[in-house]
Amino acid sequence: MQRPRILVVEDDARSQRLFRDILELAGYDVCQARSVEEGRCRLRDAVPALVVMDIQLPGGGGELLLSEMREDPLLPRIPVIAVTAFAMAGDRQRLIQAGFDGYISKPIDTRSFAETIAAILEEHANGQ
Ligand code: MN
Repeated sequence: MQRPRILVVEDDARSQRLFRDILELAGYDVCQARSVEEGRCRLRDAVPALVVMDIQLPGGGGELLLSEMREDPLLPRIPVIAVTAFAMAGDRQRLIQAGFDGYISKPIDTRSFAETIAAILEEHANGQ
């Protein structure tokens, strides 16, 4: 069976490495982008099973890329998880309202990160 592909859009090199290491260890095929523009390119290369999306990104931010994805008739409805350092009261609700399927605050909990991703993939597979 093919490993599910996860696209990580994150401009911070340390976070990129950490997310990739955790997700590869959990058995995913990880591809990476460091800006909104690179994210657009990767999405054209291959449709991932899920996107892990930083919010503060060069080229417009994670919310812009998410809205483009949702408006793209050629792109299937894949889950997008927001990852952000500015975890303030109301952020979670705002991001979920913006259309993200989940929210993880930085610094991430390295133990539960892959479990959270797996749970969202499973929910999506079950049509929730
Ligand atoms: Mn960032």
